Amino acid sequence: MKPKADRGDIRRVAYGSRTVEYRLVFERRRQLRIDVHPDRRVVVHAPAGKAAADVDARVTRRAAWVLRQVAHFEQFQPLPPPKRYVSGESHHYLGRQYRLKITARPGPPEVRLIGRYFHVFLPHPRDTKTIAERVELWYRRHARAIFAQYTARCVAKLKTEGIVAPEVKTRRMPHRWGSYTRPGTIVLNPELAKAPLACIEYVIMHELCHLKHPDHGRQFHRLLTRCLPDWEKRKARLELATL
Ligand SMILES: [Zn+2]
Repeated sequence: MKPKADRGDIRRVAYGSRTVEYRLVFERRRQLRIDVHPDRRVVVHAPAGKAAADVDARVTRRAAWVLRQVAHFEQFQPLPPPKRYVSGESHHYLGRQYRLKITARPGPPEVRLIGRYFHVFLPHPRDTKTIAERVELWYRRHARAIFAQYTARCVAKLKTEGIVAPEVKTRRMPHRWGSYTRPGTIVLNPELAKAPLACIEYVIMHELCHLKHPDHGRQFHRLLTRCLPDWEKRKARLELATL
């Protein structure tokens, strides 16, 4: 179902030096509900007839929790500017910037990384749909190889924790770099192949630590810090990476 994103008013409440911005939606319900969405939108569903000032007060009381949720989603927020797949456009791989170069050539399409260029050879250079598909396929294939290599490396560091190599799946996720869904499996976003290797290693280690500690509690962070002491630096770098 499509979210009813336009309903309600935008309101703001101050919390210390920070501001919580939320969309207030009145509806027939008994309890007030605060939702923080993966794209960091905050939506408050309030019982019809409740005073907006009362809702503000409730949001202010829950502000620490709301900001924590927002921060949680921020840590895995990829920034995907829509690509046009035309010559000259920049595309990243392992933290380095490459330029797309489309060349007309008969025969099956081919993608090759040569020097600072992402070369795409195909019969019709304006066929952006095929270019996009081929480039995505290229990323996915390379992502899989890198993820396998770094997962093995990280698992070796976690050996004493009794963590065994999980199944690694790749899936495009609009708001996540990685996720831990069920025991023995981690899912990684192939878009991550655009980030520096240090950041890729951080995301993999983060997800592997979830195999032992499913939440982001103190034990989770202790384990992560022991395996990857500079994880915070890597996380910050990932957030700044323009992919
Ligand atoms: Zn996590």
